[in-house]
Amino acid sequence: MKRATLDDFAASSGADGSEDRQTAAETDGPAVTLAVGSDRPCATCSADATRLWRTDDGFVCPDCVEW
Ligand SMILES: [Zn+2]
Repeated sequence: MKRATLDDFAASSGADGSEDRQTAAETDGPAVTLAVGSDRPCATCSADATRLWRTDDGFVCPDCVEW
Protein backbone atom coordinates (compact mmCIF):
# COMPACT_ATOMS: atom_id res chain seq x y z
CA MET A 1 0.00 0.00 0.00
CA LYS A 2 2.77 2.44 0.84
CA ARG A 3 4.61 1.67 -2.39
CA ALA A 4 1.48 2.29 -4.45
CA THR A 5 1.02 5.67 -2.79
CA LEU A 6 4.59 6.69 -3.54
CA ASP A 7 4.23 5.66 -7.18
CA ASP A 8 1.08 7.75 -7.53
CA PHE A 9 2.82 10.75 -6.00
CA ALA A 10 5.82 10.43 -8.32
CA ALA A 11 3.59 10.06 -11.40
CA SER A 12 1.48 13.13 -10.62
CA SER A 13 4.56 15.13 -9.70
CA GLY A 14 6.13 14.47 -13.09
CA ALA A 15 2.92 15.42 -14.91
CA ASP A 16 2.77 18.75 -13.10
CA GLY A 17 6.34 19.54 -14.12
CA SER A 18 5.67 19.06 -17.83
CA GLU A 19 2.49 21.16 -17.61
CA ASP A 20 4.41 24.06 -16.08
CA ARG A 21 6.91 23.99 -18.94
CA GLN A 22 4.15 24.04 -21.55
CA THR A 23 2.41 26.99 -19.88
CA ALA A 24 5.65 28.97 -19.70
CA ALA A 25 6.28 28.43 -23.40
CA GLU A 26 2.77 29.60 -24.30
CA THR A 27 2.94 32.80 -22.24
CA ASP A 28 6.15 33.70 -24.03
CA GLY A 29 4.41 33.84 -27.41
CA PRO A 30 1.76 36.62 -27.26
CA ALA A 31 2.86 40.21 -27.85
CA VAL A 32 0.81 41.44 -24.88
CA THR A 33 3.00 42.36 -21.93
CA LEU A 34 1.83 43.31 -18.47
CA ALA A 35 3.18 46.59 -17.21
CA VAL A 36 2.52 47.11 -13.50
CA GLY A 37 3.16 50.45 -11.84
CA SER A 38 2.97 52.45 -15.06
CA ASP A 39 1.65 56.01 -14.68
CA ARG A 40 0.43 56.21 -18.27
CA PRO A 41 -3.27 56.43 -19.11
CA CYS A 42 -4.95 53.79 -21.25
CA ALA A 43 -4.18 54.41 -24.93
CA THR A 44 -7.71 53.41 -25.94
CA CYS A 45 -10.09 54.89 -23.32
CA SER A 46 -7.64 57.17 -21.46
CA ALA A 47 -8.58 55.58 -18.14
CA ASP A 48 -6.05 55.93 -15.36
CA ALA A 49 -5.25 52.31 -14.51
CA THR A 50 -2.63 50.95 -12.16
CA ARG A 51 -2.15 47.94 -14.41
CA LEU A 52 -1.62 48.38 -18.13
CA TRP A 53 -0.93 45.90 -20.89
CA ARG A 54 1.48 46.73 -23.65
CA THR A 55 -0.02 45.98 -27.06
CA ASP A 56 0.50 47.10 -30.65
CA ASP A 57 -1.81 50.05 -29.88
CA GLY A 58 0.24 51.08 -26.84
CA PHE A 59 -0.51 50.67 -23.13
CA VAL A 60 -4.14 49.78 -22.52
CA CYS A 61 -6.17 49.05 -19.37
CA PRO A 62 -7.50 45.55 -18.59
CA ASP A 63 -10.91 46.45 -20.09
CA CYS A 64 -9.35 47.30 -23.45
CA VAL A 65 -6.95 44.38 -23.76
CA GLU A 66 -7.68 42.10 -26.69
CA TRP A 67 -6.50 38.61 -25.75
ZN1 LIG B 1 -8.95 51.29 -21.58
